[in-house]
Amino acid sequence: MSILLSTLNARYTHASLGLRYLLANMGELQAVTSLQEFVIGARTADLAEKLLVNKPRIIGFGVYIWNVEETTRLVAMLKRVAPDVVIVLGGPEVSHEHGEQEIVRLADYVVTGWGDVTFPKLCRAILHGPKPLMKVHAGEQPPLSDIALPYALYTDEDIAHRTLYVEASRGCPFKCEFCLSSLDKTAWPFDLDAFLDELETLHARGARLFKFVDRTFNLNVKTSLRIMDFFLDKLERHPEDPVYAHFEVVPDHLPEALRASILRFPPGTLQFEIGIQSFNPEVQALVSRRQNNDKAADNIRWLTQASQAHLHVDLIAGLPGEDVESFARGFDKLVGLGPHEIQFGILKRLRGTPIIRHTADFGMVYDPHPPYSILANDRIDFPTMQRLVRFARYWDLVANSGRFAKTLPMILRDAPFANFMALSDWLFAHTDATHRIALDRLAGLVGKWLVEQGWPEPQVRMTLAGDYAGKSEHQQHAQPTKTKAAPQRQARHLAV
Ligand code: SF4
Repeated sequence: MSILLSTLNARYTHASLGLRYLLANMGELQAVTSLQEFVIGARTADLAEKLLVNKPRIIGFGVYIWNVEETTRLVAMLKRVAPDVVIVLGGPEVSHEHGEQEIVRLADYVVTGWGDVTFPKLCRAILHGPKPLMKVHAGEQPPLSDIALPYALYTDEDIAHRTLYVEASRGCPFKCEFCLSSLDKTAWPFDLDAFLDELETLHARGARLFKFVDRTFNLNVKTSLRIMDFFLDKLERHPEDPVYAHFEVVPDHLPEALRASILRFPPGTLQFEIGIQSFNPEVQALVSRRQNNDKAADNIRWLTQASQAHLHVDLIAGLPGEDVESFARGFDKLVGLGPHEIQFGILKRLRGTPIIRHTADFGMVYDPHPPYSILANDRIDFPTMQRLVRFARYWDLVANSGRFAKTLPMILRDAPFANFMALSDWLFAHTDATHRIALDRLAGLVGKWLVEQGWPEPQVRMTLAGDYAGKSEHQQHAQPTKTKAAPQRQARHLAV
């Protein structure tokens, strides 16, 4: 074996689509290329040993924000114990501002941007000469019809145990400055018939959990409808063995035809991830995010009230021009719209993103280490930002987990942000931790806080029991048959 493609995924269930694209496009080198995925958190020496077992000539690493530190250590070790192995890096984390990165200094070559064409070309040159002169190779962007689709490379084990990532298009036409996709300036569609054929094959092989990585699934409604029809057809034919499809959508674009299609999906089969990021028009303008807030709110309200789709909506704290009060207003507005989950994200300064232009004017201070989170800006000081970070973590544990569904309204009442912030500050004062809080303990703490707020103890106990205390772990994990294909957390939300 000559070429090894590797990456450290954030979880075992995440099967790397990027590596499979590279493998699918290796041409004649595919026969001597293999794929070896790991999960972050393993011992560096163990990974290095496993990678070197078959004496590869080239190792290509997919480098992302979640694995860059561990991959840097791994590359450093490989270069010590096997200096002749050629290391090629690719992925978003090394596609921009690579000049200042330790991992780039250690590696032999870097492919920036798309690797489908450039990585195999580079491998050919490394293996057969002439030796590539440049260290950094800008990835060619061929027409999507020239790129081999990777889906046949999902193994039966991937299909049985992992989320299958698929993409009907690449790129995004919008320019939100905090997002790497803003650099694309447009979206490119894959040939839809060929793509649907691949989905058909995956479904026939047993795939039921499909996650679309398209940045804006609902831009081209005709395409969206055909993809949704594909899933509706499967659901109608096999109601006892449903599929679950996840799409990222822009919130202010839900024409009637799309709504009609959405309404046909039964519970537990459809999830939308919707980026709101901020409801503040001045902040949106500052970060070049185009969004009709009224339409977006109407659409989210309609989705929560009329459809059975599971909704995961993103907000970002720490954007330039947004203070805590403005963020709180947006948060409360979103809670009022009733999505199942609100992802409370903290702004990250991703390499290459244009948001850097606001650094001086808005006093943006970022952590220089991944994931490059904002630490303070001119409107939110460091201690307050830390409180927001803890809010986000506790929000995940209490609200997004779906484990406190009946208790949550007692916590939030008529001022969700302020009340949850009070709980968050209290939880931190009593635990000094945001991680490794056992569910039993968390339930006890939430109950204690509610009683301190004046709620009658029997009511608190009864509500918590309804959510959690009376249920065995097995019951908590059990899924209603109607939501069989849905991941456990989503099934909990839908069961409420
Ligand atoms: S945030 Fe969403 S809409 Fe904006 S550029 Fe990124 S992918 Fe596109």
